[in-house]
Amino acid sequence: PINDSLGHAVGDRILVETAERLRQQIGPGDLLAHFGGDEFVAVVTSVQEREQVTLLVGRLLAQFHNPYRFDDLEVSLSATVGIADNSADFNYPVELIQRADVAMYEAKRRGGSSWHWYSSNLDAGMQQQVELRTHLQEAIQKEQFELFYQPIVDSLGKPRAVEALVRWNHPDKGYIPPNDFIPLAEATGQIIAIADWVFERTCRDTKALVNAGLDSVSVNFSPLQFYRDDFIENVAATVRDYGIEPGQIVIEITENVFMRDSEHMINLLHQLRELGLRVAIDDFGTGFASLSYLNQLPVDGIKIDRTFISGIDNAGRNSAITRGVLMIAKELGVRTIAEGVETEGEREFVVTHGSDLMQGYLFCRPQPLETVLKWVAE
Ligand code: C2E
Ligand code: CA
Ligand code: CA
Ligand code: CA
Repeated sequence: PINDSLGHAVGDRILVETAERLRQQIGPGDLLAHFGGDEFVAVVTSVQEREQVTLLVGRLLAQFHNPYRFDDLEVSLSATVGIADNSADFNYPVELIQRADVAMYEAKRRGGSSWHWYSSNLDAGMQQQVELRTHLQEAIQKEQFELFYQPIVDSLGKPRAVEALVRWNHPDKGYIPPNDFIPLAEATGQIIAIADWVFERTCRDTKALVNAGLDSVSVNFSPLQFYRDDFIENVAATVRDYGIEPGQIVIEITENVFMRDSEHMINLLHQLRELGLRVAIDDFGTGFASLSYLNQLPVDGIKIDRTFISGIDNAGRNSAITRGVLMIAKELGVRTIAEGVETEGEREFVVTHGSDLMQGYLFCRPQPLETVLKWVAE
C-alpha cells in the first residue's frame, strides 16, 4: 500500500507518475483509469493477439524497473498484472474487470513482479473476494451503510456512552456484520471512504445522543485512516461542522496501530487530544506488549477485550489478568471499560474489581439510533 509509510502527498505523486508512465505504453484510443487504492485498469483495444498483449504487459511491467525520484526520496515499486479478454459473452465491463482482478490476485499469490491470464478454473474463493469488493464499491457509492449504537453503562447500570458500529445493509443479503467486510476494506483501501461516512454520521448523531443524557459517543478508527495527510484537519473539521464538543467523541483504536511507526501514531494521538477528543484502546490485551507501555500512551481509556471477560467469574487465568489490568489502569488514571459482559456473574466480578464502565449483551445489543435513544430514555 503506497500511502501507508510515505504519507499521502508522496503517495499521490506516485500515482500520478505511474499513470503517466503507463499511459505512454498504451494506444491513444485505449482507456487507463485509477481503480482506487494502488490499482489501475487499462481497457485495451489497440492490440488483439495474445502475443501482442503479452508484449504490452511486459512493457507495462518494465515501467517499474526505474525508481521514482521525489526531491531526495527514491522509491522502488513492483507491480502485478491480471489480464482478461473480452471474447466470452458476459456482462461488460463489470465482469471483464472482475476477471482481470481474479487474475491479478492469482499473479500476486504467485509472487514477484508478474502477470497472469484469467482462466475460469481460478480459485472460487478468490472470485468471491473479488465480487465482494466490487459490491463494496457499489455500497460506498450508494451509501448502503448504517450505524448501530451499543450502550456503555456504569456500575449502577446507568447508560453513559454508546459505541457506533457500522452495518452494511445489503439490498439482497440484509445486514452484513463488519467482520465480514472491514478486513477486506482495510486491505483494499476502501476503508477510507467507509470511515469518512462512519465518522460523519457519528458526529451527526452525537447531538441527539448527548441530548438524551449520554457523555460521549465512541467510534472505531482503522490504522489506515491515520496515514492521510489531512487526518487531523479532517477530524477537526467534521467535529466543528456538526457543532459538537470534541470531548463528546471517543476514538477507539486497537493496539495494532502501534506495531508500525508508533512514534507517528503517538504524535497523532497527542494532536487528537489537544483538539479535545478522547482516545481509547480497543480490544486491550489481544495485541502486543499491552501493559508494558500503557504508561507511555496518550490515552483516556482502555477497553478490556471480551475474551478476558468471558467466564471471568469462574475461571482462574482470565480473572487474574483482568484484575491486574484494572488495578494498573486505576493507578495510571486511565478509564476502564469491560467489553462483552454477557452474564450477571461477569458483571458482578468486573464491578467488584473496579471497572468503571461496561458494555455487553447483558445490558443491550447494538441498535439503530431511534431504538437506542428510547432505551437510554427509559
Ligand atoms: P469491536 O470494536 O470490539 O466492537 C464490539 C463488537 O462486540 C461488536 O460487534 C458488538 O456487537 C460485539 N458485542 C458487544 N457486546 C457483546 C457481548 O456481550 N457478547 C458478544 N459475543 N459480542 C458482543 P460488531 O458490531 O459485529 O463489530 C465487530 C468489529 O467490527 C468491531 O469490534 C470493530 O473492530 C469493527 N467495526 C465495527 N464498526 C466499525 C467501524 O465503523 N470502523 C471500523 N474501522 N471498524 C468497525
Ligand atoms: Ca493493492
Ligand atoms: Ca470498538
Ligand atoms: Ca473491542
